Amino acid sequence: MPAPPPLPDVRRFDSSTGVRIYRISSEAFPGFVVHVYLLLGAGVPTLVDAGSGFGDSTAQILHGLEQVRTEHGESVTLADIRRIIITHGHIDHFGGLAQLHQRMPRAEIAIHQLDARILTAFEERVAVAKKGLRQFLEQAGVGESMLQGFLDVYGYSKQNMRSLPVAHTLSDHQEWDGMRFIHTPGHCPGQVCIAIGDVMLSADHVLPEISPHQAPESIMPYTGLGHYLDSLYKVSQVEGIRLTLGGHQGPINDLYRRASDIRASHERKLEKILGMIRQAPEPMTVNEVSQQLYVHVKGFHVLLAIEEVAAHVEYLYQHNRLAIANLGEYQTEVNPPIRYIES
Ligand SMILES: [Zn+2]
Ligand SMILES: [Zn+2]
Repeated sequence: MPAPPPLPDVRRFDSSTGVRIYRISSEAFPGFVVHVYLLLGAGVPTLVDAGSGFGDSTAQILHGLEQVRTEHGESVTLADIRRIIITHGHIDHFGGLAQLHQRMPRAEIAIHQLDARILTAFEERVAVAKKGLRQFLEQAGVGESMLQGFLDVYGYSKQNMRSLPVAHTLSDHQEWDGMRFIHTPGHCPGQVCIAIGDVMLSADHVLPEISPHQAPESIMPYTGLGHYLDSLYKVSQVEGIRLTLGGHQGPINDLYRRASDIRASHERKLEKILGMIRQAPEPMTVNEVSQQLYVHVKGFHVLLAIEEVAAHVEYLYQHNRLAIANLGEYQTEVNPPIRYIES
């Protein structure tokens, strides 16, 4: 087996309000690093996110918390951690919650209202999401065997979780012990960013190197590119952010510029997809656009590519730039692939 990638060291950042923010990294899935943050000085000791729960992820987080004591001279113990805030309901951010909560049982769990059911009623949420995904993949023109493969992988990645009680549901503009929550739906329905003085914890809403994954709101309400772009504007209106720390990759020194670069990349992708559909000899399904746009992707990334394309196609359709070419079939069949032409 190849050695796992070295993890970034535990790193301390300070907010203008005196909150000590420790970044602890773990491997969410092979080759994919996610950060959790320990906040000291924002009310009770607070953990932001919980890693994936896969492989060594939880052990790595516990080791990182120990390093906060041994290498950074903090006195905080696991028993002192009284609050765990989940930034959004994606498995790489909450999958380790049950394991961590066992080690810090006094910690109260907080998450945005729109993602609370993924923690409190996990099986139901997975069943609903799976059904939505199946209907979506059929409409996207994905064949049955490939579709079944995606659904199997989707179910597998969720099997480590169990339902947990949520003590606090977060809402937009909520202020809490020096943290201000900004609801930024799009990447996930209940995605929150947390402003702490001049530092923003941006979770997966704004990342430094990759454009955060998008899926259409036909799968799940409050996702979709329209919501995402609105939320990108929303964080760019928060004044005085000096440093932004995301759920993956390194710090962002210019949130405002990064938000505008991400917006521009979506605008380019929208035009590219519209151009492909315009030039195609036949009306195109989402799956066909995805195969043409993302030629080399493999495995689970094919599903991510299809969702990403669908979010853009949906946005173009919502904004009257695309039309359904096979309306007759759409009306008479149960859930046929939708074929698009330029409007
Ligand atoms: Zn995410
Ligand atoms: Zn993530």
